[in-house]
Amino acid sequence: MSLKGTAQTLFEGITRGDRMSLARAITLVESSRADHRQQANALVSACSRVPRAKTLRIGLTGTPGVGKSTFIESLGMLLLHKGHRVSVLAVDPSSARSGGSILGDKTRMQDLSVADGAYVRPSPSRGSLGGVARNTMDSIILAETAGFDVCLVETVGVGQSETMVADVVDMFILLLQPGSGDELQGVKRGIMELADLVVINKADGALETSAKLTRSEINSALHLMVPRRPAWTPKCLRASAVTGYNLERVWDTVLRYFDGLGDEWDALRAEQREKWMWREVHDLLMARIHRDECTRLFAESLRADVLAGGVSPGVAAEHIVERFLSLKS
Ligand code: GDP
Repeated sequence: MSLKGTAQTLFEGITRGDRMSLARAITLVESSRADHRQQANALVSACSRVPRAKTLRIGLTGTPGVGKSTFIESLGMLLLHKGHRVSVLAVDPSSARSGGSILGDKTRMQDLSVADGAYVRPSPSRGSLGGVARNTMDSIILAETAGFDVCLVETVGVGQSETMVADVVDMFILLLQPGSGDELQGVKRGIMELADLVVINKADGALETSAKLTRSEINSALHLMVPRRPAWTPKCLRASAVTGYNLERVWDTVLRYFDGLGDEWDALRAEQREKWMWREVHDLLMARIHRDECTRLFAESLRADVLAGGVSPGVAAEHIVERFLSLKS
């Protein structure tokens, strides 16, 4: 597909490393308008074909207040000093539901957001969670094409967006604070199972002793979990986003993880693309089913029975899908 108009202009800007073009392109990717989607798809396809050096896609999660933005700011600045170009994207499930945002806007990372060599995207303010995740994959591709070799994807640790983010990144970091060891049940335990690295942030001042204790609790918990990758046992480190303590070690650990991926790296990216494709299929099908007037009316006619328990949700779903498919054949 050859690029035209806006998509062509944005493509040229992005490949020049222009942040303004990148920002406009991500806005295009986030739009649900059919003509925007078409342009965005063409743009992202063109960007995926641009050869690039290996990039690092890292997810970072943690409950509000744990220090995610402070941590990303400090780690991001360290990476800039090391010569990396860093992009920061956010997936915020709260914004999908309410239009508000837990992650807030980019003013949180004051130095990083204005630094040369960094691009901080404010959290998306609307859209479905599925849409947001798809946008994230597209946005990663766009940022990498603009020359950002490290992409940090931030999300709130509330259990909804993590699996989605884990599907589009190479490595997943969970941020905890001192004293959170005994909370690791239920949802948080599920999130910990996705983590390749757990960082106990705020390991400074009066919290130092408590951070040590939490680290040993987490280490015991990690030992009981089945590692996601055969070649990597998840690690737990203490760090402080405020004093900078252990941030170098965190980064060394990240690099060791990527070194250890070896040949698995290509397979991992291929796997991400495949999952992304199926997510797209799911989203597109759902959108078409919802748009189809006959199917919608048919679903409406089943609703009362489903609500009253006369027809099981599973049977109703099967009828709805069958109806949609028969209308299309
Ligand atoms: P977020 O909601 O996860 O993004 O958390 P923030 O980065 O906004 O941090 C929440 C609070 O924790 C702020 O008051 C930060 O100053 C504080 N904080 C973040 N990192 C550290 C740290 O390493 N040590 C200490 N003592 N406080 C921190």
